Amino acid sequence: MPTVSFYDTKPYDRDYMLAAAGAEQITWRFHEFRLTAETAATAAGCEAVCVFVNDKLDRDCLRQLANSGVRHAALRCAGFNQVDLAAARELGIAVTRVPAYSPHAVAEHTVALLLTLNRKIHRAHNRVREFNFSLAGLVGFDLHGKTAGIIGTGKIGRCTAQIFRGFGCEVLAYDPFPQNDWAAGHAVRYTRFDEVLEKADILSLHLPLTPETHHLLNADTLARMKPGAYLLNTSRGKLIDTAALIGHLKSGQLGGVALDVYEEEEGIFFEDHSEHGLLEDDELSRLLSFPNVLVTSHQAFLTHEALSEIARVTVSNLLSQGGWLEGTLLT
Ligand code: NAD
Repeated sequence: MPTVSFYDTKPYDRDYMLAAAGAEQITWRFHEFRLTAETAATAAGCEAVCVFVNDKLDRDCLRQLANSGVRHAALRCAGFNQVDLAAARELGIAVTRVPAYSPHAVAEHTVALLLTLNRKIHRAHNRVREFNFSLAGLVGFDLHGKTAGIIGTGKIGRCTAQIFRGFGCEVLAYDPFPQNDWAAGHAVRYTRFDEVLEKADILSLHLPLTPETHHLLNADTLARMKPGAYLLNTSRGKLIDTAALIGHLKSGQLGGVALDVYEEEEGIFFEDHSEHGLLEDDELSRLLSFPNVLVTSHQAFLTHEALSEIARVTVSNLLSQGGWLEGTLLT
C-alpha cells in the first residue's frame, strides 16, 4: 500500500480523494502547506507526492524527494509548468497528471465571468441587497452578433467556442495545430493570431504556459486589441504581462478584463488573507481597484464533476505500479 504525501490540501481535496481511495488503499499524509525545496523533507518515508498548480518541483526539490525515496510525483491538475520534467527524468521520478477532467467546468466558468462582468451582476447583487434598485451604470452589451476570439482550441478552448456559438457569436480562433473538422462542424473560422487580436470583441485565452507563450499578451499585443474589447484568462497568469495590462486598463483601451489566474498568484490564491486586511501585491491591488476587472481565485475547475474525475485519475495513477492511464505519464 503506497504512502502518499499530499500538499496544498484543501477540505474539498481531502473529501474527494478519500472518497476515491480510503485508508485501506492508500496511506494519505495530508499537508496544508505547499511542496517546495524548503518543505520537501516532509515527504521522507513516502513512495509518492501528490501536488497541485502552485507547488514548486524544481531541481532542488526533486533531488531531495529522490534522495528520500520518492519515485512518483502525481499532479492533480492538467498543467505541469511547475515541474522541472528534465530533472525528474534524470532523478528517476515518474511524473503523472490528470490531462483532462472537465473542460466544461473551465469553459463554463470563463463564460460566467464574462456574463457577470458585462451585465454587472456582481454590482447589481450588492446594490439590491442594500435596497438600491437603481440601474445607473449597469448597461452591458448583447453577446449575440459579437466576435469571440479563442486562442488555443484544445479541450477547453473548443468547449468555450461552442458556448459562444450558442450565444450567436461569430467565433475566430488561432491555434498552431488547428482542428479543422471540428471548426467546420461548428462554424468556427481559424485565422492568424493578429487577425483574432484585432477583430475580437471578446478575447479568451485557452493555451498552455510555455517559454514561447509567456507574456503572449504584452504592451504590443494588448495595443493591437480592438478598443473596448473584453479579455478573459482562465488559463495561466503568466500569459499576460500584468504591468502592461494595468497600463491598458488605465488608458481605457480595454472594455473589461476577467481573470481566474494571475501572474503572481502563488501564495495568494487559494488562501484566506482577509484577516490581515492587507494585500502586499501592488499589481493585484491595482487590478482589483478597476470597476471593469473581475478576478476569481483559480476556481474554474471547481465543480463536483471535475473534482470527482481529478480524484479518480490521480488515485488510479498512484495505485498503478507503472500501468498508467493513457496520457497521464509525463516522464
Ligand atoms: P489542451 O492541451 O487541450 O489545449 C491547449 C491548446 O493550446 C492546444 O490545442 C495547443 O495546440 C494550443 N496552443 C499551444 N500553443 C499555442 C499558441 N502559442 N497559440 C495558440 N494556441 C496554442 O489544454 P486544455 O485542457 O484546453 O487547457 C488549456 C489551459 O487551461 C491550460 O493552460 C491549463 O493550464 C488551463 N487550465 C486552467 C484551469 C483553471 O482552473 N483555471 C483548469 C484546467 C486547465
